[in-house]
Amino acid sequence: MPSWENNVRKVVPYTPGEQPKIRDIIKLNTNENPYPPSPKVKAALDCTESDLLRKYPDPAVSLLVDAIAKQYKVAPEQVFVGVGSDDVLAMSFLTFFASGRPILFPDITYSFYDVWADLYRIPYETKALNDSFEIVNRDYYAENGGIIFPNPNAPTGVLKPLAEVEDIVRRNRDVVVIVDEAYIDFEDGEDGEIPADSALNLIGRYENLLVVQTFSKSRALAGMRIGFAVGSEKLIRYLNDVKYSFNSYTMNQTAIAAGVAAVEDHAYFAECLGRIKATRSRTEEALRELGFSFNRSQSNFLFVTHEKVPARELFAALREANIIVRYFDKPRIDNYLRITIGTDEEMDTLISFLRDYLKK
Ligand SMILES: *Cc1c(COP(=O)(O)O)cnc(C)c1O
Repeated sequence: MPSWENNVRKVVPYTPGEQPKIRDIIKLNTNENPYPPSPKVKAALDCTESDLLRKYPDPAVSLLVDAIAKQYKVAPEQVFVGVGSDDVLAMSFLTFFASGRPILFPDITYSFYDVWADLYRIPYETKALNDSFEIVNRDYYAENGGIIFPNPNAPTGVLKPLAEVEDIVRRNRDVVVIVDEAYIDFEDGEDGEIPADSALNLIGRYENLLVVQTFSKSRALAGMRIGFAVGSEKLIRYLNDVKYSFNSYTMNQTAIAAGVAAVEDHAYFAECLGRIKATRSRTEEALRELGFSFNRSQSNFLFVTHEKVPARELFAALREANIIVRYFDKPRIDNYLRITIGTDEEMDTLISFLRDYLKK
């Protein structure tokens, strides 16, 4: 190896779900929303004629920060915005996990966590989910340099009750605990209201708690790249210090405008969530009849295994039929498929394909 290569920061990158180029596929592999974003977003995007694009955007992203703060009834000083929650999470790893002690996260979880830890040379330990794919609280009582987990967890869809989340935050007050709530809006309950088990309900009580959410799933804006964090003013100040040391203008003007319009259209948000939850119930029922089993999902996907047919085989057969779902060739979960909840029509096509396939 030439000597300069010894000096390169070498990383094994995250592998995102496929974004296939072929048309006429049913795409149920990356948990996108099957519905378009609020029609108000389209109107807000018409900023090409205006002065907006000639100038740098507001580095503080005040319009969007204020809209989010108002929606979640917190102070603007408690909100941080980034280019998708991946950006917010990467920035949070860099900011909060600097102790040199190992951070903790589940063995089966969002597969970006170990990538960021490796990128920033943060030591980490994973804690095994139990056989029901639940995060075991006592595993997180050990000495650590910080904690992160998604709630609901990905790719399992399993939701941790708020009391258990609070227990982890309370017992780890000397480190930052990050709850990645990419899917929390899909929890059962009143559509569009703060879900009962969201750690947003704990904000104001724990200075060490950071809640991260995204516009990519529940607000149908994966293509726009908007994520945010809510926490104590102190945490948010530290995050901003790191962000401004990196790139002041991470959020582009169109994303800011789209984000504000999406947050403000609360009725549309609630309506789409209601539809997706209804489709989830129907799909669960149909899959159960076909011999699939799964945990109760509180997200916009199902994590399923079949009593007879291996997941790997089903994944290939579905693909052949232009229905793309996600398969993880990893220990413990290599007999499961993660299926995004699409429209009713898409799920009907999926179910009828499976019904025929499983009859053979
Ligand atoms: C989708 C997802 C994210 C990232 O979403 P962005 O599109 O970057 O906002 C983060 N965490 C989990 C668990 C996810 O599933």
